[in-house]
Amino acid sequence: MELIVLGCSGSGAGPHSPASGYLVRAGDTSLVLDLGNGAFGALQRHMDPFDLDALVLSHLHPDHCADVSGLIVHQRYHPDGPGKVVPLHGPTETEVRLAVAYAPSSDERVATDLSDVFTYRPFAQGPGAIGPVALTSAPVDHPCEAYGIRLEHEGRSLVYSGDTGPCRELVELARGADVLLCESTWSDGPERPPGVHLSGRQAGRTAREAGVERLLLTHVPAWADGPALLAEAREEFSGPTELVVPDGHYTI
Ligand SMILES: [Zn+2]
Ligand SMILES: [Zn+2]
Repeated sequence: MELIVLGCSGSGAGPHSPASGYLVRAGDTSLVLDLGNGAFGALQRHMDPFDLDALVLSHLHPDHCADVSGLIVHQRYHPDGPGKVVPLHGPTETEVRLAVAYAPSSDERVATDLSDVFTYRPFAQGPGAIGPVALTSAPVDHPCEAYGIRLEHEGRSLVYSGDTGPCRELVELARGADVLLCESTWSDGPERPPGVHLSGRQAGRTAREAGVERLLLTHVPAWADGPALLAEAREEFSGPTELVVPDGHYTI
């Protein structure tokens, strides 16, 4: 598999990166994990959106799904369209929330039906597949319904934390993975609220406890000190660890 970072700025787009979005290629299959502010523009640098095989949304905070509205417009109204119907794996409320985000007026919301663009596959239905890629998910610890996601293809595995505080569910989901793409939003400290995000230290600890091969840190907000979060993670996890960068390619 190949991971291409569309955006990795935590909690919103920053001056140097869109918000969260990741393109994963596995053989001829292309899927996107999250599509936050600005990530759809970056996606068009790396592929023709009409070739997208699936969209996977970890949760419905805008920094992870705001650009789905742009994808809808592209699929419907691009001169070469309409695009094919794309499977969309997400939380329970995905269908209604995307309709509200897309339709500006209450009349339009009632009439909005996105079934020409997406087929919904809630995570609650259990494990799924995107072509040859096996998808499993686990609920993680965030203020809204949120999931960590594990993708497996030809014996290789990528686990994405989404947004979460420290939790056993993420450790178990990431057990033995080749790569853990893990959020690291703030520095470690007792004042941090529980059940929201991971510090660099907690991301490193998660990687160590799960026994992953490699740790990729993401979701660093524009105001945070990325190298300091990386140093925290490296104190906990001795395997290869780095901060991802926009447009970075990572082979799994
Ligand atoms: Zn976020
Ligand atoms: Zn969030």
